[in-house]
Amino acid sequence: MQSLEVFLYRSPEVSYTTLREVCDLMQTVKGPIKFRMLEKDDSLSVQAKSAAKSFRVKSWKQLFEEVKEYKSEKALEDAFMIFQLTLHPNEYGFYAAVDEKTKSLSFINCSYQDLFPDSTLRYPIAFNIVAMLLLSRLFDKYNELDTLIHQTPRGCLLDWASDRKELLFKMRTGDLCEDCLQVLKTKKLDSSYTQQLFQFLDAFSQQMKFKQRLEINPSVLKLEIRGVKKEIYFPQLGDLKVRLTPLEKTVYLFFAQHPEGIELVDIHHYKSELLDIYNKLSNADEKITNEARILQLCDPRDNSLNEKIAKIKSKFELAIGKDSAKNFVISGPRAGLRRIAYFAN
Ligand SMILES: [Zn+2]
Repeated sequence: MQSLEVFLYRSPEVSYTTLREVCDLMQTVKGPIKFRMLEKDDSLSVQAKSAAKSFRVKSWKQLFEEVKEYKSEKALEDAFMIFQLTLHPNEYGFYAAVDEKTKSLSFINCSYQDLFPDSTLRYPIAFNIVAMLLLSRLFDKYNELDTLIHQTPRGCLLDWASDRKELLFKMRTGDLCEDCLQVLKTKKLDSSYTQQLFQFLDAFSQQMKFKQRLEINPSVLKLEIRGVKKEIYFPQLGDLKVRLTPLEKTVYLFFAQHPEGIELVDIHHYKSELLDIYNKLSNADEKITNEARILQLCDPRDNSLNEKIAKIKSKFELAIGKDSAKNFVISGPRAGLRRIAYFAN
């Protein structure tokens, strides 16, 4: 089949990190459905968690109108499918919907804050994206949805999950029930399309289960550093990438290279090692600035190093959760050896 281009974007109240993580996750499964996002943000600051706000209820009409506007603003083709991630509730309280006419405009409600910690938030959102990709091919008119969506949970993607327990149930199962498979058969969808949808479900449910079991077995989580830019990945969590700035990454890689531990007051002895790492990660044309930044990092009167360590910690916590992050952050007593436990063991 021809490939289907899917664009994800966020309504302003949704964080960039959420959008980025969902898009990264969707890109881990290859097939005819290709996911993209247009927004680029190099600062990647971790946003302070705002107090749970209540957002205005929007009508479906308004939501689809917004997606349509985005589409024309960005001059995206009609054949593309566009998803808006939003925190605004909608008139019917759905977690997601596709417009009836074009079947290419969709919104996903991401307000799972009370149900899921940040480190797993991407899964219910990704599940709903898959559900919409499937539903968009299964129904013609909205009134058919009543028969397609299950009010009583069966552990099917098309369960109407009303609370965390039911959501977890369908996500752990990550499957379609007999009835849905039958409907799917009659629709004669392209097999590479449905194949990719099933691969999404398998991958997500496996990762969700893995994540839940981590609480019992925290040491099984593996970290990988890959590529020229030394990107940090968690392969068991759908290749989840922890995005650090070049300077943060320099600090992280430095401590990874020193499993014996380093006292922060001694950091100035390692200037050239730090600069070496940094030069490889940042733009080579900026040698002078690079050196200045490393000098600042090693200056005991400056807070730069502590700031970087704190930033790294918050990014890991956001990505994999507070408990799991403990093994991967730079830690140790205030005036003692600091190390990353994962690399020290
Ligand atoms: Zn079903």
